[in-house]
Amino acid sequence: MAADDYAKIGRMINVISTDRSWNDGAMPSVTLRFYEELNDFLPAGLRKKPVVREYPPGCTAKAIIEDLGVPHTEVDLLLVNRQSVDFSYRLRDGDLLSVYPVFESWDIIGLSRVRSEPLRETRFILDVHLGKLARLLVMFGFDASYRSGADDEELVRTARRESRIVLTRDRGLLKRRLVTHGYLVRSDHPREQVAEIIKRFDLARAVHLFGRCMRCNIRLAPCTREAAAPLVPRVVGEVYSEFSRCPSCGRVFWKGSHWESMQKLAAEVRSGLPGSDER
Ligand SMILES: [Zn+2]
Repeated sequence: MAADDYAKIGRMINVISTDRSWNDGAMPSVTLRFYEELNDFLPAGLRKKPVVREYPPGCTAKAIIEDLGVPHTEVDLLLVNRQSVDFSYRLRDGDLLSVYPVFESWDIIGLSRVRSEPLRETRFILDVHLGKLARLLVMFGFDASYRSGADDEELVRTARRESRIVLTRDRGLLKRRLVTHGYLVRSDHPREQVAEIIKRFDLARAVHLFGRCMRCNIRLAPCTREAAAPLVPRVVGEVYSEFSRCPSCGRVFWKGSHWESMQKLAAEVRSGLPGSDER
């Protein structure tokens, strides 16, 4: 056989196939099935159907899932032959892997998820390309850390140290070993992105407009009219009665014209969320 033929066969073995019949057991293989939005990560031809995949000896569930393009941070439940396992599970020939994203309404009592402890508070850290989304999240009252000059290493370390969920458009960043909680932002548009985040992390009830300093990402403290008066234009001190102040930078905020535009934006975002009629 010519060298070219060997190369061709090599490529065939690496082909992802949905058909087991051609594989006569030369190498061990498993069948994977991805559910719901995890299909977004797969090549178009492999979505929403069983995917048969060969694997090298010692391969873990995490490795084969990520090899297909699905970051492990997107996975919340992993079943092998209907038993719940974690990412370090070592594959066995013929295993059937069912891979699920975060559950919003399904009853999975009795099954353990891949992460035993949820993050206590939903806090985010955003990569350098998501500055507009970071501002919007802070505007909506969420703890969203963002540094325009931060590199990936620094971002990952901060996420780990401060238990923050990494938000990024870079799939490779989510595949890093140190990233335990992360989400790949799908939309390109900041307003859609903020709706996407609120929906994905079920945060609609936690929205608190005017809750944080846009500069410092710190929760604002109430401030009396008297204390605010010397720090704001005179007419503002006369017209408005509610003020808050940033404990870090000292800036004073009131519900002026920007408040109305924030409320309008919040209404737009909410209108795109499920269950918006009741809110
Ligand atoms: Zn501030």
